[in-house]
Amino acid sequence: MHELSIAQNIMDIVNEQLSVNNLSRVTKIGMRIGKLAAIEPASLKFCFEIIARDTKAEGAVLEIDSVPIRYRCNDCQLDFILDELDFICPNCMRNRLEIISGRELQVVEMEAY
Ligand SMILES: [Zn+2]
Repeated sequence: MHELSIAQNIMDIVNEQLSVNNLSRVTKIGMRIGKLAAIEPASLKFCFEIIARDTKAEGAVLEIDSVPIRYRCNDCQLDFILDELDFICPNCMRNRLEIISGRELQVVEMEAY
C-alpha cells in the first residue's frame, strides 16, 4: 500500500525534527501533495493515524494541501492548470509541455512542543 509507506516516511521526518529540536510532541503536520503523486488524502490520514498511535505524533492533525498539476508550453509559453495528465497544449496544440508543479510530496510545516 502506497499510502502506508508514505505515512511511515512522514513519521520518520517528524521523529527526526522532534529530536533535532528537542521537542516531545507534534500536534500538526502540514503537507503539500501534488495531484500527480496519486495519494488519496483520506487514506493517507488513516494510515498516519495508525502509525502515529502510541508515538509522539499520536492525535496530530495531518493537513493536506493539494497542489494542482500546472503546465507550461515550451512553444507558446502558455501557463495553465489541468487536473489530468496531458501532453497537448490547448493553445497551440503542440506537445512540448513541461510540468511545473503537481509532483510535490513534502512536509512543509509542523507544530510541536
Ligand atoms: Zn502552446
